[in-house]
Amino acid sequence: MKTRLTILLAGLAPLAFIAQAADITNAMLENASKDTKNVLSFGMGSQGQRYSTLTQINTKTVGQLVPAWSFSFGGEKQRGQESQPIIANGKMFVTASYSRIFAIDLKTGNKLWKYEHRLPEAIMPCCDVVNRGAAVYGNLVIFGTLDAQLVALDQDTGKIAWKEKVDDYAAGYSITAAPLIAKGVLITGVSGGEFGIVGRVEGRDPLTGDLLWTRPTVEGHMGYRYDKDGKATEAGITGTVNKSWPGELWKTGGASTWMGGTYDPTTGLAYFGTGNPAPWNSHLRPGDNLYSSSTIALDPQTGQIKWAYQNTPNDSWDFDGANEFVTFDMNGKRYGGKADRNGFFYVIDAKTGQLQNAFPFVRKITWASGIDLKTGRPNFIAANRPSDPTKGDGKKGSTVFAAPAFLGAKNQMPMAYSPQTGLFYVPANEWGMEIWNEPISYKKGGAYLGAGFTIKPLNEDYIGALRAIDPKTGKIVWEDKNTAPLWGGVMTTAGGLVFYGTPEGYLKAVDAKSGKELWKFQTGSGVVAPPVTWEDGGVQYVAVVSGWGGAVPLWGGEVAKKVNFLEQGGSVWVFKLASKI
Ligand code: CA
Repeated sequence: MKTRLTILLAGLAPLAFIAQAADITNAMLENASKDTKNVLSFGMGSQGQRYSTLTQINTKTVGQLVPAWSFSFGGEKQRGQESQPIIANGKMFVTASYSRIFAIDLKTGNKLWKYEHRLPEAIMPCCDVVNRGAAVYGNLVIFGTLDAQLVALDQDTGKIAWKEKVDDYAAGYSITAAPLIAKGVLITGVSGGEFGIVGRVEGRDPLTGDLLWTRPTVEGHMGYRYDKDGKATEAGITGTVNKSWPGELWKTGGASTWMGGTYDPTTGLAYFGTGNPAPWNSHLRPGDNLYSSSTIALDPQTGQIKWAYQNTPNDSWDFDGANEFVTFDMNGKRYGGKADRNGFFYVIDAKTGQLQNAFPFVRKITWASGIDLKTGRPNFIAANRPSDPTKGDGKKGSTVFAAPAFLGAKNQMPMAYSPQTGLFYVPANEWGMEIWNEPISYKKGGAYLGAGFTIKPLNEDYIGALRAIDPKTGKIVWEDKNTAPLWGGVMTTAGGLVFYGTPEGYLKAVDAKSGKELWKFQTGSGVVAPPVTWEDGGVQYVAVVSGWGGAVPLWGGEVAKKVNFLEQGGSVWVFKLASKI
């Protein structure tokens, strides 16, 4: 590894003379959470806290926040814009629907270049044609595409430096997450759990795209390591064949790693969440179905799994455990917080994977009465699991009402953690679903569910709720309800603020201590993306992408009907204080 990096760096040396801007280094990425001049990674630092130490925009001044510029993604097709911008070297790199990426001049808002990935007709994204963001390394900006490729572009010119096919889009593979870079390794996952793909995490050389290792997330599959000539050696099987999966089902077992991962330099571990086991009908796969609906901690340089914690064993509700594992300090120790799709918030020792606490962050959970802190396992409520269709008429099992709905107590929208308040800010949704099981068999490229469903609101007046959650006590300190389901991410700052967007089109700033609304701005379309902030020339800026879409309009059942008046869009907005104009 060391030799390889030395060779690569030596090979790069001549480029330094023509480079327009400082190359992004490992040291810069490891310190990204403290870098106020740039936003170098998804999560505003690879730990994913989405916390900024900037204070110019604060509880007293935020009322004067006005637009600095806005940029349209254009194109005939808009759809969901779930992207977090990257800020580096005076440029914004922002991805958009249909696997597009733009480079924008930070000061003027002028377009520097764009790259539109040529997508085949037959791509199969489950949940809209979204992209959540890019990674930067060296002089490259790297992102994943809906046809399961990784593309690295020159930051200055937008020219392709390398392009790698990760897997077969015709089998249901795609990429929507922002790549993670940890210890000089580009680490990515795959989407496609609804098509019976096999989830995995991969490590690559970010400068060349060369594969370094693969680690499948379904028990029974072999992981590999690759030498500098691309020759593969077996790195060991994930788990033990058939230990938690029956028969052949592990071969199409899902557990997609579609949200990407976080990395904590203090533990040296990368954390990836895994999606539902496939198919949804749990009676076809008795057992825990490792490592679906779990958090796994990996060594970034080898892909070795250091620990795993399964949130929903033998999942029957599409409770993907893909959500971000956000590390933080509590009582002198390093923990990770995870607001799971299944309705429970987990606090886990970031080094060992030991469960410290688990508590609900939504009001209605029907599938389990709680999490046993000794065993780490949920206390299932057996009657609330949809039944085995082969035990009835053979066509359809009993319909049960389940909460949360499969779109989750929380979905792709990332939460934030403030070391200043010690609180997590979680974009939660309160909804339920009618769900039943049906027979299903695997067919390449076909939906592999074996279940039917209809999502329903639980309350007349709201679905979304931004909740401030104390990880020490498990208490909800405050909440701000929202009519539509929340689908954008959250950011918090040392200015005592929490920023988040709503499908109704607003970017809002609220008081981090009380949740009191202090500012809002109508962006012209729904916000389903996380905001960022940075400082340039003594001025603090805030940016957010606007463009309604994502999974809710496609899969939201009765909820989708409630929000079908919302208009699509595609733009990024940048704000600063009026006094700084
Ligand atoms: Ca899923």
